[in-house]
Amino acid sequence: MDIHEYQAKRILARYGVPVARGGVASLPEEAVAEAKEIGGDKWVVKAQVHSGARGKAGGVILCRTEEEVAAATRKLVGSRLVTIQTGPAGKPVGSVYVEAASTIDREVYLSFTYDRATQNVMVVASAAGGMDIEEVARTEPDRIKRVLVDPAVGLRPFHARAIALSLGLGKAQLGPAAHAIHACYRAFWEADATMIEINPLAITTEGKALALDAKISLDENALYRHGDLAELRDPTQEDPRETFASDKGLAYVGLDGTIGCIINGAGLAMATLDMIKLAGGEPANFLDIGGAASPERVATSFRAVLQDPKVEAILVNIFAGINRCDWIAEGVIKALNEVSVKVPLVVRLAGTNVDEGMAILSRAEHPIIIADSLADAATKAVAASRAMAPAE
Ligand code: GDP
Ligand code: MN
Repeated sequence: MDIHEYQAKRILARYGVPVARGGVASLPEEAVAEAKEIGGDKWVVKAQVHSGARGKAGGVILCRTEEEVAAATRKLVGSRLVTIQTGPAGKPVGSVYVEAASTIDREVYLSFTYDRATQNVMVVASAAGGMDIEEVARTEPDRIKRVLVDPAVGLRPFHARAIALSLGLGKAQLGPAAHAIHACYRAFWEADATMIEINPLAITTEGKALALDAKISLDENALYRHGDLAELRDPTQEDPRETFASDKGLAYVGLDGTIGCIINGAGLAMATLDMIKLAGGEPANFLDIGGAASPERVATSFRAVLQDPKVEAILVNIFAGINRCDWIAEGVIKALNEVSVKVPLVVRLAGTNVDEGMAILSRAEHPIIIADSLADAATKAVAASRAMAPAE
């Protein structure tokens, strides 16, 4: 789960990561009040959306007067910010963060994530931080330093020093930077984050290290032990298709194609997506109904998949182990009775109670295309979606 920059900064500040003074606002007059409270004569007004690369998209505005703060807030709040990370629809800006502008000497990059291969925390650091870090990673990979930290040992002073040194900092800045690195690691670990990225960590002209930007992703599977963090969820920033499904306890991933997929198990889902692509089609989404799916759950899955207007065919692919084909089939019938399904439906059932399941499906009034293997199902779904697609 992603959270906003201002929320990430509050968390980091609690752990002692230095951040500038700031406050969140959604009205121009609130933003001006924040600016007054912060003091000084230069502020940045930053669009709060779950995306990076806001600066290049006009979402970070440097202001020299209170009028400019109000104007920047008016411009951003209520708009949709389109960055290279959001896709063409962009994300709605519900609030801005008003912050004291800092005078930056250097911008460095710092992030924390997991390295699955070694099962360690990986700290990524680069002296070449700022808005072009992706370009640096592509053209000058040597300028990016990676340090692995065994979580059983934790981040030790030698790690922090190695990272701080790789940032190319002067002697006076090593201490403050190492302190900030330590604090970030503790925040990463204790909040059950999957990612913390500070880009840039600014070295100010006064020699201080300051987190000018902050992105935190939290492990959704660990939110149950962080009630306060779970509340930071902002559904306006999510794919509405995924919000509907997650509210219903379904694991749903939105994609860009035309075939809606209702599948049990992530592994079978991956295989099905591959087979659809192999057959020349593109999945619109996939929905993992999990084990022991009741007919109600199957019907709800149809609703979730049909939320997406791009869906031109539905593929149900179930290999029933814990699941039961007869329950799945009952769910399909229930869905067809309750939800208006105007697109072709391909069903492939295998495993527990498959004969009972097929018998139930044969009684359906809505036409169902039966498939007898994964490959057959994918081919039939692609053909059916082509038949539905408007002629070009
Ligand atoms: P992002 O584009 O979404 O990653 O947003 P950032 O928060 O990283 O801001 C983009 C850029 O705006 C930074 O790399 C800085 O160059 C600049 N910026 C952000 N805050 C300040 C500030 O307080 N002072 C100055 N001078 N520049 C800032
Ligand atoms: Mn940034």
